[in-house]
Amino acid sequence: MNTKRFILPENEIPREWYNIQADMVNKPLPPIHPATRQPLKAEDLYPIFCKACADQELNRSDRFIPIPDEVLEKYSYYRCTPLVRAYGLEKALDTPAHIYFKNESVNPLGSHKLNSAIAQAYYAKQEGVTNLTTETGAGQWGAAMSYACKIFGIEAAVYMVKISYEQKPYRRSIMQTFGAQVTPSPSMSTKAGRKILTENPMHQGSLGTAISEAVELAMNTPGCKYVLGSVLNHVCLHQTVIGLEAEKQMEMAGEYPDTVIACFGGGSNFCGLAMPFMRHKILEGRKTRFIAAEPASCPKLTKGVFGYDFGDEAGYTPLLAMFTLGHTFRPANIHAGGLRYHGSGSIVAQLLRDGLMEAVDIKQNDSFKAGVLFAQTEGIIPAPESCHAIAATINEALRCKEAGESKTILFNLSGHGLVDMSAYNSYLAGDLVDAAVPDADIARYLKESGITE
Ligand SMILES: *Cc1c(COP(=O)(O)O)cnc(C)c1O
Repeated sequence: MNTKRFILPENEIPREWYNIQADMVNKPLPPIHPATRQPLKAEDLYPIFCKACADQELNRSDRFIPIPDEVLEKYSYYRCTPLVRAYGLEKALDTPAHIYFKNESVNPLGSHKLNSAIAQAYYAKQEGVTNLTTETGAGQWGAAMSYACKIFGIEAAVYMVKISYEQKPYRRSIMQTFGAQVTPSPSMSTKAGRKILTENPMHQGSLGTAISEAVELAMNTPGCKYVLGSVLNHVCLHQTVIGLEAEKQMEMAGEYPDTVIACFGGGSNFCGLAMPFMRHKILEGRKTRFIAAEPASCPKLTKGVFGYDFGDEAGYTPLLAMFTLGHTFRPANIHAGGLRYHGSGSIVAQLLRDGLMEAVDIKQNDSFKAGVLFAQTEGIIPAPESCHAIAATINEALRCKEAGESKTILFNLSGHGLVDMSAYNSYLAGDLVDAAVPDADIARYLKESGITE
């Protein structure tokens, strides 16, 4: 029986990240200044972001960017991550498709977010930054950042959306274990927070309030910079270690994926797995399909429009080219917290416009149903976010079965769900609703955000 499950090259961590911007025929549109509408230069981003990250954000010329030795050393604590053939899932589906997944849940923090957190903390240290601040919704990014800051000797201040702070006490404890200062947002510690609380003392917080507070702290504190865990080009760049490893591992398995799938919040784990394979589509005309799986309750790729929009609810950030539902969009409070973001990054936005990738939307109950089948057949409880990729994979595998096609599917297991069991509880109890957004609501948000007339 040929059932080699794990493909794990030893000590083969890529030495460089892959920058798809260099190979894109139509480049992603640059961020622009909201008032002047002029394209931003890297220097314009220096007051808030680390210089190295700002430079990477706008780098369209270097196809490969070296991974610094100290980052490689920290990666070596948990990389390479396994590429796994999902024999159990294949059997349960009775599909001729070959299903592989890249397991990004096997690091100390349990999600892919650590790949960029380590890089960003390293650059901050190099540039003499003493404090980093960020926001976190469900808590995975805050947890990864807290650990990365600790190992590089940087103080971390995390603004956590108040409702998550109260509902997800374990992620808060994880951040505090790594020594981060965690503040529920909105808080009285910033001007933005005080204003929100004065107007509405019961405000439950949102990513928008948390970003506003973190950015304000970074702007007003010497030696402090702001970091973000998704959406931006440099974050997607750092995540390409996933796809570069997977490329080698697929080769070791003697296969090449016909379809590459990942869940989609702001795009970092999708880009991380997909871009190294996308380069063969762009440069060599490979026919690979790329599918981003987003929640039906936050469908920016399938129902949003392309345009310039703010990255945050308060409108503090530069304008970014994206598929968006409008920065004022309020998604339903679904359990896949990491996917509740109104826009896509500009690389993905361009690739989607150019027809190089596709998107599907997945209902909440379908995502958990897929996650439970995966758990029961592969023994790993997936993060609620990752369940969307699994649901899309299952749909593809069943389509292959119907068509009698033996395709090779590769998906990203972006994280495990062991700190999200309350979400599974709700699903198992039958308490979850499938909130799709009415088209009229999307039209209203887009208008309110100034995207459409
Ligand atoms: C944050 C998160 C996501 C969504 O973020 P992307 O930038 O779209 O990848 C997906 N899966 C997990 C496990 C996450 O923590």
